Amino acid sequence: MIEAVYNACVRCGLCLPTCPTYLETMTETSGPRGRISLIADVDQGRLELLSPGFVEQMSQCLDCRACEAACPSGVRYGSLLEEMRARIERAQAPNRSAGRRRVRELLLHRLFRSGRLMRAAAAVVRAGQRTGLHVAAARLLGLGDAAALAPEIPERAFVPNDQRYEVAGAAGTAFLHAGCVMSVAFAPVHEATIRMLNRARMNVVVPRDQGCCGAIAVHAGEPDFARELAKRNIVAFERSGADVYVVNAAGCGSALKETDRLFADDPEWSERAARFSARVRDAIEVLDAMDLDPRIGALDVEVTYQEPCHLVHAQRVSAAPRRLLAQIPGLRLIEMEERTICCGGAGIYNLTQPEMAKRLQRRKVEHIRATGAAIVVTANPGCAMQVASGLRSDGSRVEVKHLVELLDEAYARYGAAVNRA
Ligand code: SF4
Ligand code: SF4
Repeated sequence: MIEAVYNACVRCGLCLPTCPTYLETMTETSGPRGRISLIADVDQGRLELLSPGFVEQMSQCLDCRACEAACPSGVRYGSLLEEMRARIERAQAPNRSAGRRRVRELLLHRLFRSGRLMRAAAAVVRAGQRTGLHVAAARLLGLGDAAALAPEIPERAFVPNDQRYEVAGAAGTAFLHAGCVMSVAFAPVHEATIRMLNRARMNVVVPRDQGCCGAIAVHAGEPDFARELAKRNIVAFERSGADVYVVNAAGCGSALKETDRLFADDPEWSERAARFSARVRDAIEVLDAMDLDPRIGALDVEVTYQEPCHLVHAQRVSAAPRRLLAQIPGLRLIEMEERTICCGGAGIYNLTQPEMAKRLQRRKVEHIRATGAAIVVTANPGCAMQVASGLRSDGSRVEVKHLVELLDEAYARYGAAVNRA
């Protein structure tokens, strides 16, 4: 089935300069063209699925989709990678030790199935951050330097609980995807998103029966688990009666827009999944499409924009964030070098491939610092955590903000200025 996909590659090499791991290694097998050849070799039986070199390349790839966006032949590289990761997982799972199976069950299946468990885990991380014990605990669980990546967990989580935020003369209703990491580590971004959607004359609902987007399951080669998670969100959206499913985390948005692919062979769910996928939008797309309230305050600041891979490459949203930034009076956007090259965050990549993740993080931090900007704007929690931890360890005081937070701040400035007058 994937033969047609890899056969579409004409080996032109136009994707190579867009690939972060190729740029770092300058090695053919660590680039998209080489990986596609390896995938064809495995699919046609010339190379063992579990040969160490192949497994390493399927893990080292960030699934950033830069190659897919650059490819003139339309090779859907992401679907090749996902298929291969699923095959590897099916082959490896039976040989996993009981201990590793338990850790995977806890850290993948249980945690991402349950918002309550995710909040409990976040509370433990928060307690650890206060005492410093989180570093040792992460190492004990085999999570390496994960503690250094975690943002400071706020006291308050954003719990989806059937909240409604309504405005007079609303143009429509947005379903806000609360997500897992976003809801425990980035509650202020959700609050800013709700205020901004209201300013764009959208009602907002946050149904409690929603859940994780399933991206982590797809990346881990577990499509059945991804389908289980996706069904919850499809049903929650249908019940909500909302017009649009709004996501403020690019990685989640990309997975949710591709929900239809997960159900392509399922006659019972394929139509519902297709309808659902067609309604998913990043918050940036929604705000860009709406008439925003013109009463916006000025921010006298220089910023640079870190393009999340799953926004620019997977969703092809690149001009909208810049148009929104241009609406903030006083703000100056300074573009960084290699702005569309992955920062090395890529979901849990910084845990599974710590060495390459660090190399890409350093590369990104250098480009950010070279702009002299005071703020890095992004639109994805994975990028925010990876960039912030890189800047921290570099002793930099550059702040990291979600684009929606910055817009919200500009509006709050206007309100404050009016109140002072
Ligand atoms: S750009 Fe497309 S066709 Fe060319 S080598 Fe890369 S994947 Fe193959
Ligand atoms: S998805 Fe990203 S890391 Fe993987 S081959 Fe394509 S460009 Fe390279």
